[in-house]
Amino acid sequence: MRGMADVVVVGNGAVGLSVAVEIARRAPELKISVIGPAERARAASVAAGAMLNCFGEVTTHTRRHPVSEARFAVARAALDLWPRWLAALEEDVGEASASAVRASWSDGTFVIMSSSSGRIAGENFEAMCATAAELGEPHELVAPEQVDGLAPRLGHRPLRVLHLRREGAVDGRALVAALERAACERGVERVPATVRSLLRASGGAVSGVELEDGRRVAAGAVVLAAGVAGGALADQVLPPGAVPPMLHGTGLAVTVKRVNTGPRGPHVIRTPNRAGTCGLHVVPLAGEDEQYIGATNVITFGPATGFAPHPSRRSTSARPWRPTTGWWRSSTDGHACSTPSRPAPTGRS
Ligand SMILES: Cc1cc2nc3c(=O)[nH]c(=O)nc-3n(C[C@H](O)[C@H](O)[C@H](O)COP(=O)(O)OP(=O)(O)OC[C@H]3O[C@@H](n4cnc5c(N)ncnc54)[C@H](O)[C@@H]3O)c2cc1C
Repeated sequence: MRGMADVVVVGNGAVGLSVAVEIARRAPELKISVIGPAERARAASVAAGAMLNCFGEVTTHTRRHPVSEARFAVARAALDLWPRWLAALEEDVGEASASAVRASWSDGTFVIMSSSSGRIAGENFEAMCATAAELGEPHELVAPEQVDGLAPRLGHRPLRVLHLRREGAVDGRALVAALERAACERGVERVPATVRSLLRASGGAVSGVELEDGRRVAAGAVVLAAGVAGGALADQVLPPGAVPPMLHGTGLAVTVKRVNTGPRGPHVIRTPNRAGTCGLHVVPLAGEDEQYIGATNVITFGPATGFAPHPSRRSTSARPWRPTTGWWRSSTDGHACSTPSRPAPTGRS
């Protein structure tokens, strides 16, 4: 064995880092290690639009099955917890480091049903309104003219606009950077490596992990938070079917800086979910007048083909459009306890 930790967290995305930070808050005496590759290729947390939508994701199917009802309940609980969670994160990382997260923390979503919305989007819009009314979620139907940053083309004008006051977004890249910083401040060790397998003691319990380079780390407890890779790791130690399959979701998005279009709104503007994928969404980012536009989510059992991580640098030119795939590369090195700069998007431009 090369190392020993009380808790090893496998995966350095938003979930792994959040779990590590929270354990460190509750039990500062524990030695906690977060293991994950520094570049975070294929990580969802740094590719996401990171909308904090619960009612904004309701469809006609949401409340039809106990499983989707349970997922909805988790989303509702998360909606209540986010403000407190972000406030605690700010306390951990300090005013200056928290500013990027706070700058991107938008408090409100406008869901648009326009003259070009299809039948499914229309039905989901109605389901959203009905669910918000039934469960007492603060919401109102507003006039399209009240939505800052909304300038529809003729022929695509909104028919109805639902304002969900409590649902906004965070900048996923800024959030992960802040979580890295919080982990560092709380003494969580970050190991830039990939876990190859889980180790088991003679009784069968998981006793540590083996890394790709052959190093082994013994652990009192191992937390799997490796995103889509988590399923294959769990399969090493759990009977088939013990946990639901982890599916890959690949999205295409662009980050843009608004030029000659007037200021962006401070909130999320989106359409309802439709046909198993998310609606079109425009999300403010931490940078001035920067925003994220996404629409797709292609679900597959294995990694989607046709996309490749491309380590390009963030564009500094005045070009307003910067196409990116869902792949991002983090600039954090996994060791230094200084606030990392915002990760650079990768993409095929
Ligand atoms: C394009 C896109 C848009 C999205 N938009 C939203 C949204 O608007 N709102 C929302 O709530 N959710 C959204 N999501 C979903 C959300 O991003 C994810 O649910 C969330 O980020 C998952 O976090 P995670 O930490 O579990 O996984 P990840 O962020 O994928 O992190 C897993 C980490 O584990 C590492 N890892 C993998 N294998 C190993 C290994 N063997 N050993 C060590 N480390 C390993 C990876 O490198 C990665 O860094 C979106 C997802 C995508 C892809």
